[in-house]
Amino acid sequence: MKVRNPRTGRFDHAVAPPSLAELEALLAQLRARQPAWAALEASGRAERLQAFARAIDERRAALQAALEADTGRRTLSTLEIDTVLKLLARWAERAPAILAAAAPCNRPSTLPSVTWSVTLEPVELVGVISPWNFPLLLALTDAIPALAAGAAVVVKPSEVTPRFMGPLRAAAAAVPDLPLALVEGDGATGAALVPRVDFLCFTGSLATGRKVAVAAAEAFVPVSLELGGKDPLIVLASADPVRAADVALSGACRASGQACQSIERIYVARPILEPFLDALVARAGAVRPNHPDIGVGDLGPFIWAPQAEVVAAHIAEAVARGARVLTGGRIETRDGGLWLAPTVLVDVTHDMAVMREETFGPVLPVMAFDTVDEAIALANDSVYGLSAAVVAGTLAEAEAVGRRLKVGAVSLNDAALTALVADAPKTSFGHSGLGPSRAGEEGLTRFLRRRVLYAQHGEPLPLEAFSERG
Ligand code: NAD
Repeated sequence: MKVRNPRTGRFDHAVAPPSLAELEALLAQLRARQPAWAALEASGRAERLQAFARAIDERRAALQAALEADTGRRTLSTLEIDTVLKLLARWAERAPAILAAAAPCNRPSTLPSVTWSVTLEPVELVGVISPWNFPLLLALTDAIPALAAGAAVVVKPSEVTPRFMGPLRAAAAAVPDLPLALVEGDGATGAALVPRVDFLCFTGSLATGRKVAVAAAEAFVPVSLELGGKDPLIVLASADPVRAADVALSGACRASGQACQSIERIYVARPILEPFLDALVARAGAVRPNHPDIGVGDLGPFIWAPQAEVVAAHIAEAVARGARVLTGGRIETRDGGLWLAPTVLVDVTHDMAVMREETFGPVLPVMAFDTVDEAIALANDSVYGLSAAVVAGTLAEAEAVGRRLKVGAVSLNDAALTALVADAPKTSFGHSGLGPSRAGEEGLTRFLRRRVLYAQHGEPLPLEAFSERG
């Protein structure tokens, strides 16, 4: 299976998916190693996770080079590695206390003579299926808390960005007892994994997420689905239009829009529409592609070539229906890689794909609104409900609007903060996801089964206690 390089367009790498027999043998090995891993207790596993962080750090140069080849970008590759190291440190530190609190002992019950205690039983094997937009981070963001909980983990990253797996495998192999395996392959390997694990964490598109949810339901495998979004940004009349334009540009164009929490729709109060657009267009026009030098510029290339076609189709359809392009708008080919400058669209409506479907590119369609209620109704008019952003003159004003949005996370006076902070639990609304939160304590406790032990301190109730008495 050949893999394209996003900066050159050349197919310069290959992956070799395992046969079904090889996959099953690997999963059996992981299951066999899991009891010893669980027996290490929370503190022993935390030590191993810290060792895993050191092993990754020692291979930083190789990992960085592989991620750069996978994604065509440098700063975000460094950020991915740094974030994973922070996640390892944070879960290693927090897991022992979370696990202790999740196992209450000798509690009174509603029957005076009975007490109860809970023991925790991690699921044996967690499967992770991850996408191409943040290859390292999204391969490990669920895997780390699953390991901390005591499960073995198998990860099937995207076939679009598999180069990072080599150095990551080497880091995992350097840690004694770590029951973590990485499997190459595409959707067929992912589909083979779903019924063979005990809990599945899927990050990817709505279309694939739906297939995974159906397959998991048939096999009675619980799932956490983290899917796409169509995040709105609302700019209230009290906002500083220039600051709001900066927020919009950063929220929509970071990672070239290839992020689930990217700003994909912008609603601006009519009185400040003009200064907002002036600032946005000026700033968008100054954004540079990171070409020819990967280390110089603001925007990386499209990682997956077919995504560029989706983005171009959204822009073309909007223009055909009356939208105007104020800046950007054309996919440019440089040395075989594909780039799009930030593209600002106006005169857009909600019957255009660019306002309904996930675009996943640096595209900023802007609509004016006259009342706050109208802005909220427009923002809530989506099948997605991942996250949103509100910019206003004060945080209180932004919060009043944020509380009315049908999404799982709202950034107030900023955008896409969930890319930087994962401390709090959040629920994906609508078609943006399913199942427990990956952030907050639940990110770990979702991998635990609870066994309750009810202890009778008095006399067991005899059969007569349940007899009919006429
Ligand atoms: P995708 O759905 O095409 O693929 C995701 C993964 O699923 C890949 O590893 C792929 O090989 C695998 N897969 C494909 N078919 C499968 C099947 N039938 N059964 C099991 N696995 C299968 O997604 P993508 O294009 O790689 O990633 C982009 C999408 O991911 C966007 O929609 C984006 O919003 C979403 N995403 C969501 C989050 C989040 O946290 N909510 C984060 C990042 C990306």
